[in-house]
Amino acid sequence: MIQETPNSRHSTNRSGAEHRDVIVIGAGVSGIYAIKRLTDLGFDAIVLEADDDLGGTWNRNRYPGCRFDSESYTYGYSFSNEVLDEWHWKERFSSQPENLRYLHFVADKFDLRRHMRFNARVDRMEWDEADHLWDLTLVDGRRYTARVVVASLGPLSAPTLPALPGMDSFGGQSFHTFHWPKTALNLAGKRVGIIGTGATGIQIIAEIADKVEQLTVFQRRPNWSSPLNNAPISADEMDSIRARYDEIFAACAATPGGFEHQTRWGFWDHTPEERKALWDELYRQPGFAILAANYAEIFLDEDANREMSDYIATRIRQRVNDPAVAEKLIPTDHGFGLQRLPLETNYFEAYNRPNVELVDISQHPIEEVTATGLRTTAADHDLDILVYATGFDAITGAYDRIDIRGVDGQRLADRWSDGPLTYVGLLTSGFPNFLMVAGPQSVSGSTNFPRAIEGGVEWVTGLLEHVRQNGYQRFEAQPGAEQDWQKEVVRAHERLLLRRSKGWFTGYNANVEGHQEGTVRYQAYFGGAPRYTSRVTEIAETGYPGIEFASIDRADAARRHS
Ligand code: NAP
Repeated sequence: MIQETPNSRHSTNRSGAEHRDVIVIGAGVSGIYAIKRLTDLGFDAIVLEADDDLGGTWNRNRYPGCRFDSESYTYGYSFSNEVLDEWHWKERFSSQPENLRYLHFVADKFDLRRHMRFNARVDRMEWDEADHLWDLTLVDGRRYTARVVVASLGPLSAPTLPALPGMDSFGGQSFHTFHWPKTALNLAGKRVGIIGTGATGIQIIAEIADKVEQLTVFQRRPNWSSPLNNAPISADEMDSIRARYDEIFAACAATPGGFEHQTRWGFWDHTPEERKALWDELYRQPGFAILAANYAEIFLDEDANREMSDYIATRIRQRVNDPAVAEKLIPTDHGFGLQRLPLETNYFEAYNRPNVELVDISQHPIEEVTATGLRTTAADHDLDILVYATGFDAITGAYDRIDIRGVDGQRLADRWSDGPLTYVGLLTSGFPNFLMVAGPQSVSGSTNFPRAIEGGVEWVTGLLEHVRQNGYQRFEAQPGAEQDWQKEVVRAHERLLLRRSKGWFTGYNANVEGHQEGTVRYQAYFGGAPRYTSRVTEIAETGYPGIEFASIDRADAARRHS
């Protein structure tokens, strides 16, 4: 396909736009691998990255305590033996600075920066049906055309702020966690306020509680949380991990969440004492073992989930000295594991410190941000720094923030206003030659992210090779195939207790119009990684049913470009 078109090989074409065969949007974990594979396969491709450097989520989230909650060696790329041999993960759950170093190491090793354009935020992209091209405009007015666009936008890259009166009037420093300053921020002697107790807030609170003068946590709904159980990885341990890499990645591919931890069944076959003994063990184990190696019934059965939730509630009561504070930290509106579980290190102990105060804003809502702090209906809180750990317009938000117009000028944001519609999370009808790595309704939102994105990149590049070999210039998901996938996404979602929870998994975000309580957006595929992988593999191996391919009329194209 791609080399044979009139605009092929990069060139400057109509209206001074630079043309490429493939444009990848986003230089995060998925964009880095996408450009590696595309250029290895000989595609004329570049990456447009809004930020001033590569790294995506690990370049942006620089808040204290930011780290993996997937085991580092299951999070890293598997595609290169050299990378696997050379990189030493220093901690079981590696921290943000190290994770960013890792992504730089990979990009530099394969000289990928030369394919990346930074400070290149795509504002608008429009499908040109006559020429079968995407026309892209950046916020600074630069223009590109591309036969194919690959969106590697990340599921959590559109931060959202609450709409509080007076936010602009605050006299101290305030920012969303996604925009934590890149330059060192001195917290010593500061009165810090933090709104939000999701995975981000929980990491920050635990990390800074003993470093600030006063920490005030404004919590609307508590989250369940359990220990990360981080530890260093010695050189010897790293050697044995390296020797096991094939086994590790094979195990991740075989589990629903893309981790080594193996889910089990048999909740009701065991006695309460046996179940407690398992949970005591899992509570001490690293990472998501408490979820991913637990009984599968806790995600499906109300009674099983309640018993598990009671177990974690007891743990919280044991760790928090003040019983009234402990009760405020125990969720009552959703069960354990039914929203994205934050993992913590000494989070609950932070509330035993005299300089940490938990303010329950479900009881006493925030009235306004003032010049000197925050006012709730109960009190004024003086602050030097105000941190918004208020989350993201997850999964579809980054797509909505680009004005993407497909066939007949249809806007993607309009098409997805009630929730995304996709073909296996990789294409969406009405938007030809547009591919999504780790897109909505793929498995990535619900699993160990890089394990899913490597598969996504390989599928996308496999499709592009198929298109090239067959001389096609246009491909588009068929609506019928999309409807069938929608049914599968809904079926997987409706099986799980999480269907009723208010978290980003189910598209809930009180700060985003249309994502508030009462709406259901089927944003992620919850059927598990093995089932997803076998579905998309089958599509590729059977000639891509559900996708319509077409060739451009060469004579007509040549006439237009002569
Ligand atoms: P989040 O889970 O969506 O949490 C946002 C928090 O802000 C919630 O506590 C929410 O309260 C609160 N909030 C939002 N708007 C508010 C308002 N108007 N007033 C008061 N409170 C408000 O966001 P997050 O903590 O940034 O985490 C998002 C995801 O990022 C995680 O689930 C995870 O997937 C990823 N992450 C991963 C790691 C890691 O370890 N690898 C670390 C951090 C984040 P309500 O619950 O009441 O809405």
